[in-house]
Amino acid sequence: MKLHTSLHLYHVLIEETSGAKLNDPLLSTIEDGYAVNKYDEKAFDINILEEVTNRFKELIKTDTKVTTYPDEERENYRYWESMNYVIPCGGIHVDNLNEIDDADIEITHKKKAISVKIILK
Ligand SMILES: [Zn+2]
Repeated sequence: MKLHTSLHLYHVLIEETSGAKLNDPLLSTIEDGYAVNKYDEKAFDINILEEVTNRFKELIKTDTKVTTYPDEERENYRYWESMNYVIPCGGIHVDNLNEIDDADIEITHKKKAISVKIILK
């Protein structure tokens, strides 16, 4: 739940910082203790990620609500919402960003892809 919410949060912060709508990651995986989103290197400027990471680390300690709700027309279709950002997702999430509390971020850039690894502490 923490990792899943972290991936969404980091994704919307890339959008907020770059000012552009971001496509879904090329790959998104959640393992025991860490999660990875992989993006095309052309999706955004890698240099913004330092700012994104700083903002992410601040936000996961703040009292910020996360809500999920069903689509009014489509059955079994749900949304994730936090800080006025909405992502279609039926997964299970924490109710507040401060439940994540602390995490490390590792960025790797290889084979034309940028990987964002979020490691819970
Ligand atoms: Zn989700």
